[in-house]
Amino acid sequence: MLKIKDLTVIADNKIILNKLNLDIDTGKICAIMGPNGVGKSTICKVLLKDPNYTIKNGTITYNDKVINDYSTEERAKLGMFLLSQMPIAIEGVQNSEMLRMALASKTGKAVDILSFHKEIKEICQKLDIPTEFIHRDINAGMSGGERKKNELMHLWMLKPEFIILDEIDSGLDVDAFKIVMNSLKEYYKKYNPTILIITHNTKVFKYLKPDVINILDTGKIVKSGTLELANIIDEEGFEAFKVSECATHE
Ligand code: ADP
Ligand code: MG
Repeated sequence: MLKIKDLTVIADNKIILNKLNLDIDTGKICAIMGPNGVGKSTICKVLLKDPNYTIKNGTITYNDKVINDYSTEERAKLGMFLLSQMPIAIEGVQNSEMLRMALASKTGKAVDILSFHKEIKEICQKLDIPTEFIHRDINAGMSGGERKKNELMHLWMLKPEFIILDEIDSGLDVDAFKIVMNSLKEYYKKYNPTILIITHNTKVFKYLKPDVINILDTGKIVKSGTLELANIIDEEGFEAFKVSECATHE
């Protein structure tokens, strides 16, 4: 589904990702963990073609197509979706407007307003957000937790095949975290998308069990393994995976 090969990424004249390799099979859950500042969010941004990041070398292949030159919009149309760490507000564009346009562009058909409203209302209820959010400007005037739920409303409506979760727990209180994670779990059960989880909180794995966990350190994956790695991280922290000390965990 997704193949990242020898990816070197630069921002502001600095190498942030350094010959990164990553493979994710269709329908699998892959996690990337690592301390602050090692390049986790950069992976998310470069996957969606944030213009602040330049690919110096390497390829991103999505469903057998090299997408290095694809625009963000084209990538979204292919089914890629990012739930970002800090979703930005877009003043002047209502949720419903954006979703109707995106759905029409994806399916090539006009959206049936009645079924659209029925579906989106049910989603708001499940996510415990007011149905008036449907007509609010995207994330405008919303708290961090509300923004995450609002983006999750987009996810349920757009039904992406490949989901990137960047620090999904940040900005969420205990109750909102449960609602968001149960909703993602339900989505995974129903549609079996491919998921890339970026997190340093292993609690996320109680809801979405990764098939593989990768540890990132300064732009490179230094260790890959199963859920067992999460236990080591909980007990010993990321220090256990510093490049020079990796051999002890082989
Ligand atoms: P993480 O998500 O793992 O905490 P980031 O991917 O946000 O890390 O950042 C990795 C490193 O790259 C940090 O040192 C950060 O300051 C730097 N960085 C990220 N984006 C930019 C940018 N647009 N311009 C300059 N430096 C950046
Ligand atoms: Mg980050």
